[in-house]
Amino acid sequence: MRGLIAFTALVVAVLGKEMFEGHQVLRIVAKDETQLSLIKNLEDMVEFELDFWRGVTDVSTPVDVRVPFHSLQSVKIHLESQDIEYSIMIEDLQVMLNEEQQEMESAARIAEPRNTDSFDFSRYHTISEIYSFQDMLVAENPNLVSKIVIGQSYEGRPLNVLKFSTGGTNRPAIWLDTGIHSREWVTQASGTWFAKKIVTDYGRDPAITAILNKMDIFLEIVTNPDGYYYTHNSNRMWRKTRKPNSGSSCVGVDPNRNWDAGFGGAGASNNPCSETYRGPRAHSESEVKSIVDFVKSRGNFKAFVSIHSYSQMLLYPYGYTRTPCKDQTELHNLAKKAITDLASLYGTSYRYGSIINTIYQASGGTIDWTYNQGIKYSYTFELRDTGRYGFILPANQIIPTARETWLALMAIMDHTSKNIY
Ligand SMILES: [Zn+2]
Repeated sequence: MRGLIAFTALVVAVLGKEMFEGHQVLRIVAKDETQLSLIKNLEDMVEFELDFWRGVTDVSTPVDVRVPFHSLQSVKIHLESQDIEYSIMIEDLQVMLNEEQQEMESAARIAEPRNTDSFDFSRYHTISEIYSFQDMLVAENPNLVSKIVIGQSYEGRPLNVLKFSTGGTNRPAIWLDTGIHSREWVTQASGTWFAKKIVTDYGRDPAITAILNKMDIFLEIVTNPDGYYYTHNSNRMWRKTRKPNSGSSCVGVDPNRNWDAGFGGAGASNNPCSETYRGPRAHSESEVKSIVDFVKSRGNFKAFVSIHSYSQMLLYPYGYTRTPCKDQTELHNLAKKAITDLASLYGTSYRYGSIINTIYQASGGTIDWTYNQGIKYSYTFELRDTGRYGFILPANQIIPTARETWLALMAIMDHTSKNIY
């Protein structure tokens, strides 16, 4: 019997993929502050095993939450008994995941790309496909792109960063990262597109050419590689790192609560089972510490942009404190310019502001740390959509998302290069 259980566990570990049959994503809308705090209480009802895709903000912003099949009835009764309105945003999550998987598999049957021109940017890719894309890009553009390994993930994967540089020594630099939350697939896909866009436009587009003649750009596409691998092979909804937590059966730390900026304050959890678990100490995660060490040792970073999804927002510090950052006016105006440029392509509408005023208090976040290190142009994006598909954004939206986001990035990078401080 024990042998059978061990064998079964092994099969699940090897072949098993977490299934989400019957899971629904509910959109909950508060009528007033009282209802908002009742919804907030759901976060502590661990028996429901809820997964907040979009947390509690304010009365005007809906809350999106994935509810497992086993607690669906109880959650709905709970909401109805308190007269809280909700709608079903995703009827059966597994149906959507099956469609996503089928699309990926049909794309994978086409021969592997031999160069980055034949790379299919309109599909989601595995980590090995992205890593080989990076190597091809470096091989094709040796005078512009190089690959730096800034460290290793917990499971030993290389933390690859693409460096775009036209020379000079330790020029002022811009940092871009995607995928620190692994399930936000449109971000890694957009990061891949950005990399190709830079090499395509350099020497052709005057704006990016001017930026690269003055500054270096660093791009980490798969910022949480263990998590990304896990989303493809075990659990599509994985957000955190994959490091075990001592004294708990729950795995992983939220790498966007692990930075040494208001670490341990409100807006992060001390429970290892939470999706916003801050970790045992600041910079406990190698995926975070490697960036910290790289940014500090290289120095001269002037802009730092960390890219997430979803909810269509462009945010600047702070998240851990209500005290406005000292560059608030400039960051606010630049954010406005960036989202206006973004909207000019397809009309996609973004909100913008400081993290704490636009979403909620969040401590230990990436850009609060970078800003406190003196990197003035510190921003975070939340890309498409606003919840129709959430993290399961259809692949046919990758290129439009990347294209419009690029316009906002260009606004930030252009302003930075013209206002070197
Ligand atoms: Zn995120």
